[in-house]
Parts: sequence; C-alpha cells; structure tokens
Amino acid sequence: ERLTRAGAGEVERAAEAALRPKGLGDFIGQPQVREQLSLVLDAAAARGKAPDHVLLSGPPGLGKTTLAMIIAHEMRSQIRITSGPAVQHAGDLAAILSSLEEGEVLFIDEIHRMARAAEEMLYVAMEDFRVDVIVGKGPGATAIPLELPAFTLVGATTRSGLLPAPLRDRFGFTGHLDFYTVADLQTVLVRSARMLGMEASETGLQEIASRSRGTPRIANRLLRRVRDWAQVRGTGVVDLPAARSALEVYEVDERGLDRLDRAVLSTLCTRFAGGPVGLSTLAVSVAEEPETVEEVAEPFLVREGLISRTPRGRVATADGWAHLGLTPPDGTLG
Ligand code: ATP
Repeated sequence: ERLTRAGAGEVERAAEAALRPKGLGDFIGQPQVREQLSLVLDAAAARGKAPDHVLLSGPPGLGKTTLAMIIAHEMRSQIRITSGPAVQHAGDLAAILSSLEEGEVLFIDEIHRMARAAEEMLYVAMEDFRVDVIVGKGPGATAIPLELPAFTLVGATTRSGLLPAPLRDRFGFTGHLDFYTVADLQTVLVRSARMLGMEASETGLQEIASRSRGTPRIANRLLRRVRDWAQVRGTGVVDLPAARSALEVYEVDERGLDRLDRAVLSTLCTRFAGGPVGLSTLAVSVAEEPETVEEVAEPFLVREGLISRTPRGRVATADGWAHLGLTPPDGTLG
C-alpha cells in the first residue's frame, strides 16, 4: 500500500515536470513578474553579466520552481536545486556553493527554512561571491576565504515576510506571484490537455479552471482526475459533465474550496462562532500544522473574501457564512 502511494507520488511529479513551460514566453499569466524578470534577464545579458539574485514569493503551486528553471533556461545555463530544510548546517551550503560553476543558477526552495548559520554564509556568498571556510576550533580558528564564481541565486518562499531583512535586502529583485485568473488557468489547461493528447471541451476546461483555487498545479492535477473520470465513467472526453462529476467525487466545491479550506471555514464558523480565533487554535481544531493553515488554506480564503485576518485573529466574513449556507449569530459581523 505504501509502495503504491510512493509510486503514485512519482507519477504525479513526473506529470508535473512534463508540463513545465521551458521559456519565459511559454509562461502563462503573471504579466508583471514576467515583464520585470525579462528586463532583469535582458539587461544582464546585454552587459554580459550574471543577473542579480532573484526572490520569488507566493503561495505553493503558482510556478516558483518553474520560473527558476526558466531563468536558467533563458540564461542558457545550468540550475542546481536545493531547499531550505535540506541545508541544516553551514557545511551543507559551503559544499553546494563551492561546487557551482560560473554563471550557474542556484535555486533554494523554501529559503525561509534554512539554518541560521547557513544564512549568514549565504549573505557573504551573495554579496561578495566568497565563502569563509572556518578551520579549527576556539581561539585558534581561522577563516580561509574561498572565492566563488559569479552565480545567480533564486530563492523561493511562501511569504517574503518570513525572511530576515538582511537576506531579503540582498536580492536585487523580488517577484510576487499572485493567484491566477480563471482565464489564465484555462489557458494553462488548454496547453496541458493538448500536450497530454486529451480530448476536452471548452466548458469542461473552464469548469476545472474556475475550481482550481487560482493555482496552476491544482488545475493540472484536477485535469488528470477529470480525465480519469471521463475514461472510466464518461465518454472519454473532458467535458462539463465529466468535470462536474469528477470534482464532486474529489470534494472540490463550486468555488474551488477543497477539504482543508472547508474544514478551516466551517470550524471557524461552527466551533468559534465566526471568530476571532488565533491561528494555532484553529490549526489544532482542524488537525493541521499552523504553517499549512497559514500558507495553504488562508491566502485563498482571504482572497476569496471568505475569511479575514484581524489583529485579534481570524474572522469569518458574511460571504464565508453564506458559502456554508449558515446564518451568523447576531452582531458578530459588526
Ligand atoms: P512550490 O512552491 O510548491 O515549489 P511552485 O510555485 O514552485 O510550487 P511549480 O512547481 O513551479 O510551483 O508549478 C507547479 C505546476 O504548475 C508545474 O507543473 C507547471 O507545469 C505548472 N505551472 C506553474 N505555473 C505555470 C504557468 N505560468 N504556465 C503554465 N504552467 C504553469
């Protein structure tokens, strides 16, 4: 059972990789970030220099990894990929940095979760292209400077506010990725369906797009689930009836809320009378990590206007109550 699931994870990851756009021109939506990045890249290319370090922030699944790969592709260079949690000691980072080649891209996903000691090493590497290797211990310890080739760091974080200011300040450019419009997600899906050789109707893809929480990764995943339904229970075509039936099976509602989103919203309304309630209390009540509630469920619920964040905690909005078909107790909505 565990093996099957690990296998399925592999298949999903491979499916995702196959759909990744390669160049900036194939990247759909996010017009500001695309324009800003293309300026950064073109200017650096014209000067014959490595581009400034780039920070990408935004909720999971909006294309940060994809953009990092696109940056390397546009620079015609290689990319090294690691993540904050994988860098637990300064030595881990020193090993990666010292193996970089001139002009390479180093991508650090979840950069806000990197160890403190490594962070300080990274400041120096970003600014002076140097690492100080400490040899020995105590008063006799000496720092031996090691020159690094010029590289471009691309960092990704779910919230740039989580980064210490000295690190944030060393990025020459920060791109904020926002949830995608339904129209952009539909374009993503048309491309994916074509690449995967699926027969799909416009209304079917539109239905999937409008229920994908503004997130391309989710759109692509739901597309595969709707195709499953179409093949096993439907006509083989990803059309509107297939989309509606499959999304019902997978518990994705008309507005795109999934189980966790709905659990957060309904707990807030029914157990805490609409709030305000603190993040950790809410997370315990839905049996999730506070980070997951804060970085995955909340940004979408806030954007949809179903909950709001106040200094005293999370509060359900009138729209939030209405979405659950509930009436708020008197006076709670001010
Ligand atoms: P995480 O933060 O979890 O690493 P991410 O933001 O890095 O997520 P990606 O892995 O880059 O997300 O993207 C997820 C999937 O969505 C990829 O398979 C990619 O094909 C697709 N995708 C993301 N952005 C776009 C886009 N703008 N156009 C087309 N496809 C996209």
